[in-house]
Amino acid sequence: MARHLGGLFSDEVKGSEAFSGGQGAADARLAGFNVGGYASTRSEVWPAPRRGASALSPYIRHGLLTLPQVWSHVSEGPAQDIKRFRDELAWQEFARHWYARLGIDTRTGVRHDLGPPAAQPAWDRTMACLEMCAEELEDDGWLVNQARMWLASHYAIRLGGHWREGEDEFFRHLLDGSRAANRLGWQWTTGAGSSKSYGFSRWQVEKRAPGLCGQCDRSGDCPIEEWPEEADLVKVEPNSKLRRSINPSEAGPASAVKNNPPDVVWLTAESLGANDPALVANPGIPVLFVFDEPLLERLQLSAKRLVFLVETLAELAENRVVVLHRGRPAEVLARHRPAVTFAPVPGFSRISSSLELGELHPYPWLARPRGGSVSSFSAWRKTVDL
Ligand SMILES: Cc1cc2nc3c(=O)[nH]c(=O)nc-3n(C[C@H](O)[C@H](O)[C@H](O)COP(=O)(O)OP(=O)(O)OC[C@H]3O[C@@H](n4cnc5c(N)ncnc54)[C@H](O)[C@@H]3O)c2cc1C
Repeated sequence: MARHLGGLFSDEVKGSEAFSGGQGAADARLAGFNVGGYASTRSEVWPAPRRGASALSPYIRHGLLTLPQVWSHVSEGPAQDIKRFRDELAWQEFARHWYARLGIDTRTGVRHDLGPPAAQPAWDRTMACLEMCAEELEDDGWLVNQARMWLASHYAIRLGGHWREGEDEFFRHLLDGSRAANRLGWQWTTGAGSSKSYGFSRWQVEKRAPGLCGQCDRSGDCPIEEWPEEADLVKVEPNSKLRRSINPSEAGPASAVKNNPPDVVWLTAESLGANDPALVANPGIPVLFVFDEPLLERLQLSAKRLVFLVETLAELAENRVVVLHRGRPAEVLARHRPAVTFAPVPGFSRISSSLELGELHPYPWLARPRGGSVSSFSAWRKTVDL
């Protein structure tokens, strides 16, 4: 990483303390996950053994585990736990549909404006609850959902920071960081994309991390003893794309499109699994991955996000010829006729539209987009069979 990817990340070369990349690690996490008790323990934050969250998200994010695969994995167990877990998988699918529809417009296509932001605030790390969450974000690149809501609410609702700055700070560190789920999470927590903002106070810490306040130096003068003031949400005109019918480019092909024999398999960060459809369909040709230099120079992600990708690609290279490039994907791939799996993100459409694709394989949707509203989770749920 230091020799070949210098300048493309923001901190020292170090992997996550909690996760390693690779199909083997993904499969082991899934095999070790038991859905029993999920509904009542998913929101537990501390101590870690109380947590019922699956910690599958980094692998789901990069396609090492697909949503249909994880959905079927939990077919046995208590009904309320299966239902709750599958509802969360549906949230991930909703985020993907929402982002596939709006793309870059998700930055501006909000339901509420929160007013002018305060100067970019920092979490108060003298408080044990915020320090623990911020440290986990930075060291592990992962947090349970509840902890994400605490940090997001504190940043934007109590301290008045702009949700987009907070989103970027999460995005730098989260191994599962996506413009779909992370942006939706910030908009949902702050009220920019929902009907109400989420308030964070000592009450949640005592409930979800019992005993933590007893270890906090600020316990006697807790800055979050009371609820924060409600955010001043001003309704904005919704983006018309939220409710429109399907644009075929959102969903990609329903079955493989074969134009010409491919000479490489192009893997994207959306689909790095050993079961990537383009990879499986083409066992005899090299695999190519491009570290998008202009994008990564701009994003300055934490090194642990790239370490996770490198570990995944290194494991794949035990069985396949894997060629890594640093450069502009469209330029590198212009020399080839790649086989690739569709990815429902704007960057994929932009890059692939300039290429002569050998094969385009379908994206493993949990529920293929069919058009209709993505203005809220409940409205969207009526448009899909789940
Ligand atoms: C401010 C904020 C930012 C977030 N950023 C991201 C992000 O960048 N990437 C990301 O994948 N999720 C994000 N989430 C959603 C959620 O917090 C994580 O998916 C979850 O905590 C991952 O841990 P897990 O795998 O143990 O989840 P589990 O509770 O075990 O759930 C299983 C899977 O369901 C999906 N899921 C669960 N909750 C949600 C949700 N609310 N929205 C979308 N998918 C969900 C994930 O794929 C997850 O792996 C964010 C939430 C908030 C509030």
